[in-house]
Amino acid sequence: MYRISLITGDGIGPEISESMAKILETVNDKLGVKLSVEELEAGDAALQKTGKALPDSTLDSIKKSDACLKAPVGESAADVIVVLRRILDLYANIRPAKSYPNMNALRDDIDLVIVRENTEDLYTGKEFEIDDVAVAMRIISKNASKRIARYAFKMAEQRNQKRKVTCVHKSNVMKKTDALFAKSCDNVAKDFPSIKFEQMYVDACAMNLIRQPESFDVIVTTNLYGDILSDESAQVIGGLGMAPAANIGEKFALFEPVHGAAFDIAGQKIANPSSFILSAKMMFEWLAMKNNDKKSLEVAEKIESAVYGVVQKGIKTRDLGGDKSTIEFTQHVISNLE
Ligand code: ATP
Repeated sequence: MYRISLITGDGIGPEISESMAKILETVNDKLGVKLSVEELEAGDAALQKTGKALPDSTLDSIKKSDACLKAPVGESAADVIVVLRRILDLYANIRPAKSYPNMNALRDDIDLVIVRENTEDLYTGKEFEIDDVAVAMRIISKNASKRIARYAFKMAEQRNQKRKVTCVHKSNVMKKTDALFAKSCDNVAKDFPSIKFEQMYVDACAMNLIRQPESFDVIVTTNLYGDILSDESAQVIGGLGMAPAANIGEKFALFEPVHGAAFDIAGQKIANPSSFILSAKMMFEWLAMKNNDKKSLEVAEKIESAVYGVVQKGIKTRDLGGDKSTIEFTQHVISNLE
């Protein structure tokens, strides 16, 4: 039995969490992996209600669970996800961009993963003002850079596809911080002689993600570049509605869609739940690896092929050019799962 914490979030969060709850119920009832799911509050609504975007009770429950699924939160995102990443030391942010059928995408043969360092860079919140000047401190350490590089190389080995790692930085301008990141990746590369290693400036990478996205395998990069490039790669495969993500640490992991709370469509019941459902696929993969649990790996594979099968038939939500509501789409995924 796995204990799963489910943060329902803001905006479209509660709507896609309803889909998630149904998917997890199906996994528990029909697919042989027993789950105990606890729904938790965090985000703007929690802030209004309790005075804290990340209430202590939510954090306690997350810590007691085996893994966390987090729907997007709104304006208070930095006080929820950035804090959770730091407290739980979720140092690797994994953002796959994979082609699915029937998408309005640039190509149909994309299968890349962005491995984003999740604990440093400009996201440590170290900012201050001196008169009319605002300053942000960019922290890059050798240890964190090597740790994320190792994760990326191991992933390239496991994926066993193009067996390539692309280290993305801008060391020609950021001569201390990005140069340290690049050098750390270069050092780690020596331990993985069977994996190709290349370096690319972030502006060139942004261009190549559009020009030749099929050429990438694993991209490893710093926090801010990873944040921006993963929104781009999501759009390249057809949109944020199909982009899952994982935040992985040594002991714990949290899974969430790449997209935000999408307030512009909240309450209309038209949100695409796929990125959240595919995040659950990543969760079962991680649980399988951590616990050497074949059943969870099967569940992960089934979830992905269930979503694949649905969009292959042209059944899609509005963001992808379809007409299905969030729950109608979810029901089709569940039928495929069963
Ligand atoms: P954040 O800064 O928190 O990432 P954002 O305001 O940049 O959020 P999102 O909330 O990610 O943006 O949404 C960007 C656009 O994509 C919006 O127009 C939104 O409607 C659309 N969108 C995002 N996620 C989905 C989804 N699951 N289904 C349908 N449309 C979505």
